[in-house]
Amino acid sequence: MNLKIYPDPVLRRRAASLRRVTDADLQRLRGMLELMYELGGIGLAGPQAGWSARAVVMDTDGRGEGERIFINPKIIESDGMAEDQEGCLSLPGIRSTVVRAEKVVVVAYAEDGKRLEIDAEGLQARAWQHEIDHLNGVLFIDKLPAAAQMNIRHRLKELSS
Ligand code: ZN
Repeated sequence: MNLKIYPDPVLRRRAASLRRVTDADLQRLRGMLELMYELGGIGLAGPQAGWSARAVVMDTDGRGEGERIFINPKIIESDGMAEDQEGCLSLPGIRSTVVRAEKVVVVAYAEDGKRLEIDAEGLQARAWQHEIDHLNGVLFIDKLPAAAQMNIRHRLKELSS
C-alpha cells in the first residue's frame, strides 16, 4: 500500500460502506496501520491508501493500545467549536487553521464487528472529523476561509504539476 497524494482522484471520491470485513479487507486494514505508523500520522482513511472504503485507522496517542481499526465510522453527535492547526499526509507541506466541533461522538465497528461508541474531544475529535471527511471526498483545505485558500494556492499548484 502506498500513500495517495493530492490531487489523486481517489481522495475526492465518496467511499463505499463495508458490508462485511473479508480477509482481504483485514489485510488492507493492517496495511493501513503499518502505513500510518511508517509515515508518523495519527490517522489514515481508506482513500488515502487508494482504497475507496469507509475504513479508518487511528492512534491519536501513538501508544498502539486499544481499538485502532474502525469500520463505517459515523459522527452521531457534535458539540462546541474549536480552532487549531491541521495538516494531512496527503497534502504535504500545507498546514492551516481549521474550525471544527470541539467534541464528537462517533459510532464505528471494530474488525470483529463489535459496535463501538467513542466520545472524543480535543485532538481526537479533530482527527475523527478529518478522517470522516476523507471518506466523503472532503479535504481540510476545503474548510479554509478565502484568505487562507489564497495562501495555499501556490502549494496546491506545485502538488498538481
Ligand atoms: Zn488527511
